[in-house]
Amino acid sequence: MNTKEKDLQYIMHTYGRYDVALQSGKGVIAYDEDGKRYLDVSSGIGVNSLGYCDEGWAKAVSAQANTIQHMSNYFYSPQASDLAEKLCRLTGLSKVCFGNSGAEANECAIKIARKYSFDKYGPDHNEIITLKNSFHGRTVTTLAATGQEVFHNYFFPFTQGFKYAEPNNLDDLKNNIDEKTCAVMLEVVQGEGGVNILDKQYVQTVATLCEKNDILLIIDEVQTGVGRTGKLFAHEHYGVTPDLMTVAKGLGGGLPIGVCLCGDKLKTVMSPSTHGTTFGANPVVCAGANYVLDTIANDAFLSDVEEKGRFLEEKLLQLSGVKSVRRLGLMVGIEIEGDAHDAAAKCVANGLLIITAKDLLRMLPPLTITKDELLEAVNILDKTLKEITA
Ligand SMILES: *Cc1c(COP(=O)(O)O)cnc(C)c1O
Repeated sequence: MNTKEKDLQYIMHTYGRYDVALQSGKGVIAYDEDGKRYLDVSSGIGVNSLGYCDEGWAKAVSAQANTIQHMSNYFYSPQASDLAEKLCRLTGLSKVCFGNSGAEANECAIKIARKYSFDKYGPDHNEIITLKNSFHGRTVTTLAATGQEVFHNYFFPFTQGFKYAEPNNLDDLKNNIDEKTCAVMLEVVQGEGGVNILDKQYVQTVATLCEKNDILLIIDEVQTGVGRTGKLFAHEHYGVTPDLMTVAKGLGGGLPIGVCLCGDKLKTVMSPSTHGTTFGANPVVCAGANYVLDTIANDAFLSDVEEKGRFLEEKLLQLSGVKSVRRLGLMVGIEIEGDAHDAAAKCVANGLLIITAKDLLRMLPPLTITKDELLEAVNILDKTLKEITA
């Protein structure tokens, strides 16, 4: 059996895959099992922030794998302590809790929000308002947090206590707030929901409203974080500070990590045995994340991300098949003439690895991509869109 046949026989069919088996990669380029070359502007859904097999990253990770690869959370870990210190210093937040994925980081944020409210106001003060069209993960609770009806199916009963408000609609949010509200949870740019960039005014007013009413503001930066939008974290564009923030995808540079950070007000909420995970704070993963942060967290790197994003947007808007572009940094949604899923599959066949978000094409290229590589991506997209409309 070849890779595809084995996959179809032995792996549960929970993903619609493109017809490609990736074998290796370097930078922005991936190769399949037959040696065919692909330019990758998806970076494993924003995960390979430094591209494939970045030399410094791979060195940091393999050095750590050759030093100590895992220890339980009953011991202190220098790599985890360093990463936590770095994250707090860079965000102004106070403490972190390590996990292994975005959904887990969000679960952690939800638990902290509920425990804070339980300790202070009792068990009924537990509701979390999220936004329609959001995406927060695939566990039973984060599915419930996800404000899209299609996700609320099959796995009943879902976790109670979530309400959904219309994004960018302050009145709808206010109408959902009552004496039970403990938190508001949002992505400032909804990724899976179609690269919807929230209004600055809206986010700022929500933050003020939350602060005034002791409602916790949870910002899900799983997709937007770690330089993706041209700031280290996307909420910096909005001038707000979350009480809780979650980070995952791009942080590990390709290894699984999820982090929940909290501000001063929440730093003593969690006590021994209120939360934990065996793999969380793994030193190999943390060594990779430390390297990623050391590379990305500086003004020159971040302004280059924005500069390349602007360049890409300008080139995309010149294509006849492109109707509009929604973009912050290198988080890019492309509205096209014709079906985005069809276009994505044809791009892949033409050597461009690209993904979709709702009915848009989506690019989340490695932050290290060059302008020449962006041009090559735009050219393949142009050719593909012309094939479709021909
Ligand atoms: C991908 C994503 C998640 C879920 O992360 P996993 O690592 O897949 O569990 C949560 N929130 C947002 C905004 C995401 O983009």
